[in-house]
Amino acid sequence: KRNTQLNTKTLVASILKRDTVALSRAITLIESKHPSHIKQANTLIEACLPYANQSIRIGITGVPGVGKSTFIETFGKHLTSKGKRVAVLAIDPSSSLSKGSILGDKTRMEALVKDEHAFIRPSASGDSLGGVARKTRESIILCEAAGFDVIIIETVGVGQSETTVHSMVDFFLLLKLAGAGDELQGIKRGIIEMADAIVINKADGDILKHAQLAKIAFSKALHLYPKKASQWTPKVTLCSALHNEGIDAVWNQISDYIAITSENNYFKEKRQEQNKFWLIQTIEAQLSSHFFNRPDIKKELQKQLERIEANKTTPFAAADYLLNL
Ligand code: GDP
Repeated sequence: KRNTQLNTKTLVASILKRDTVALSRAITLIESKHPSHIKQANTLIEACLPYANQSIRIGITGVPGVGKSTFIETFGKHLTSKGKRVAVLAIDPSSSLSKGSILGDKTRMEALVKDEHAFIRPSASGDSLGGVARKTRESIILCEAAGFDVIIIETVGVGQSETTVHSMVDFFLLLKLAGAGDELQGIKRGIIEMADAIVINKADGDILKHAQLAKIAFSKALHLYPKKASQWTPKVTLCSALHNEGIDAVWNQISDYIAITSENNYFKEKRQEQNKFWLIQTIEAQLSSHFFNRPDIKKELQKQLERIEANKTTPFAAADYLLNL
């Protein structure tokens, strides 16, 4: 036990000294299911908490192939060249669903990986989006304690993953592709509403014209939504991640957003709302996991499932019975 305490202390000290190897080890502890690791991870997070909260958290989402890795690499390099330290975390719910990852096992962001001012961590695996999300939330705290100025959370638009990312970032960026005039089709309801910026990537070569048309279509779509509580008006811009065009404009937009929402206090309020949301989420998750992991519940649940199959009880009566145990 004494050893663990010592290790935790050293680990925290190293994280605060911006040691990324220690940061990686700490995140591995967060991702572990081993009870002693979970305990150590909680101590770590608590120790890091006073040093957290200082970064800008940016969510980036888009379908596979839209150019997320290319964009994050170019954008990340742009930021590190300005002296910022950038951490990239990912939420990939598909890795838990299909055991394969949509965000890709291919070597991604090679230049950024080599950049000493950048830290890239692939998506945690987990049984549920909620589990992956919690680990990512905790990793944000550790990255902030390790002095990262910008934290990018990347996700593919699978299931609820965009909403999850939106609930943990300050600025939500939607990466889009120009199509053949049907850009608004197949876009999930609510996604446009969540976006603080829509960036149309691959605005280069033959498709530049399409991208310009898409920009008009998205701008019109954005106008249909009421003004945001942040007082921020989302914009549509074009970029070419491959050719490093329009990248600085994205960063300027984010800087403007930070300036406006710091001024009107929305930035702080939003983070507080997010913290409250995560408190409730965490309680729900722990209650449910405590409940389902109880040996007596496991046994009785099996019996009740059989009774339901045999039409001997209703789901509601069975739930009541189990909850009363
Ligand atoms: P992800 O699946 O969203 O991470 O997309 P990738 O970053 O892997 O990009 C998918 C493909 O699009 C790759 O072949 C990239 O080289 C290409 N790509 C990405 N950005 C651009 C761009 O701005 N212009 C062009 N022409 N191709 C791009």
